Amino acid sequence: MIPEKVSNSQFKRSVCCLLAVLMCTLLCTVHVFAEAGEQTEVHMGQTIKVGLKYGSTAVSRFTVGCDGGFCVANYSSNGNMPVLQTVSATELEIAVNGGEVSVKDIATGDTVLSGMTTENMILPLFYNEGYSISIDGTMYHGGVMFTPSGSDKINIINAVNIDQYVCGVLPSEIGSSSPMETIKAQAVAARSYALVSALEGGNHASYGFDVCPSTHCQVYRGLKSESEACNRAASETAGQCIYYEGKPVMAYYAKNSGGYTQNVEDVWSSRLGYLRAVPDPYCQPYLWEKTYSFSELESRLAADGKNVGTLTKVEITGLADNGNVKEITFTGTEGSASYSKYTIRSFFGSSDVKSNLFRFNGAVKYVDVGEDGSIPVRETETPEDAAAKGVLMLKELFMLGANGSSGQIKADEVYVIGAGGEAKKVYADSGVGIYAVNAAGDKYLINDTGTIAKPNGDAGSSDYMTITTVEGSLNETSGSLRIVGLGYGHGIGMQQDGAIAMGKLGWSYDQILKYYYTGIEIR
Ligand SMILES: [Zn+2]
Repeated sequence: MIPEKVSNSQFKRSVCCLLAVLMCTLLCTVHVFAEAGEQTEVHMGQTIKVGLKYGSTAVSRFTVGCDGGFCVANYSSNGNMPVLQTVSATELEIAVNGGEVSVKDIATGDTVLSGMTTENMILPLFYNEGYSISIDGTMYHGGVMFTPSGSDKINIINAVNIDQYVCGVLPSEIGSSSPMETIKAQAVAARSYALVSALEGGNHASYGFDVCPSTHCQVYRGLKSESEACNRAASETAGQCIYYEGKPVMAYYAKNSGGYTQNVEDVWSSRLGYLRAVPDPYCQPYLWEKTYSFSELESRLAADGKNVGTLTKVEITGLADNGNVKEITFTGTEGSASYSKYTIRSFFGSSDVKSNLFRFNGAVKYVDVGEDGSIPVRETETPEDAAAKGVLMLKELFMLGANGSSGQIKADEVYVIGAGGEAKKVYADSGVGIYAVNAAGDKYLINDTGTIAKPNGDAGSSDYMTITTVEGSLNETSGSLRIVGLGYGHGIGMQQDGAIAMGKLGWSYDQILKYYYTGIEIR
């Protein structure tokens, strides 16, 4: 899941071309492996560079394995890469010492490559035939590259075809048991996120790669996490990305909006046309709360270089149109300090204050609204009222045979049969339309668009939307601060909990994406 996605962090690059300077030649003891598998070019297609280990997790050595031997290719982002040489080992150790990178055959102890540069990639010799490699024991598609980190560490980078990358993301990000259309929506969003990171330089350009494998970008676990359902979703959407005004876009997504997604400028900085706030009744309420004493908040403020003296009041001083908190102000005996947008969660810790939709001493509130802001259809309304609002009225009902023949069914004789064999009359008890009834006895109204709406519950659709929100105080002076909120994550773009609910309601992947991203095209 992606509870968090912080905008570009500026990481200072400490060493830029150490290896490039050290290694101008790529050569040494190289054994030509197998005539049959020898290839002059690797065809990887659009590639994504994933930083597996970098910065504080950079390593001084790592191992790479492949049963069929290796080759070294010159990296190119379009994926057509000339093979520079072949190596007949099955397990290599790549180590850096005093700024020098060496590649050894573990079986023989021989140095098989020296002069590797940051532009070179080690791949399975039979890459084009579908072989994959292991990096420190974990299987990955594609190949491995590295960039220097200081003089004695290297960042490990897995360069991989974008569709294979998506296969390694889906199981962790959305799960193999989600509805197929939901997994496909996630596949297109994940692919767009990665593609734009590669094209425009994402959060990690200074380390020489496009995306990291954690929730900061997208969780990626390589080949070992892959599943049949997720691979099918990736292949059925292969190559598809999200476009806005003709350009592929960064498809930010999060776990649970809490009831209303966010305008991107209310959380980060610039306005983007495709990242607009939309009502989100599809996310099941995700409630959280956290309590802080004023003295604890004073210490946090002091640690952040903001000394306000003895804290006397905490206030919500800015709200977005959809009720999300945009600014919070701490007032003390010696001054005040404010935090706005995403820095509010950074101040508290974003796994404690899980979203920006919160109030002090709050409680959950349910608000029914129509898609166009109209009053929703209720079970108690008359058939005329319901018809005026577009609910399918049961006037005539036919059953169609396989050959197209039909027989009319009387309107007051419609039943659903439950899994336990019990029959429930679905029309007569309300008189406003056709209901489907689930195992728990909840009634879902079938509306005139053919979608299903729950009249008074959580998962709504076009006629019904129950927005969950929080009600509570905007300021606190009592000496302790109890924060109650809804949702998990930044609330921008697709919400995974909502996308799963939509998939269960029969939405297609492009309907899901077009609901959460405004004015987009998928191609
Ligand atoms: Zn990242």
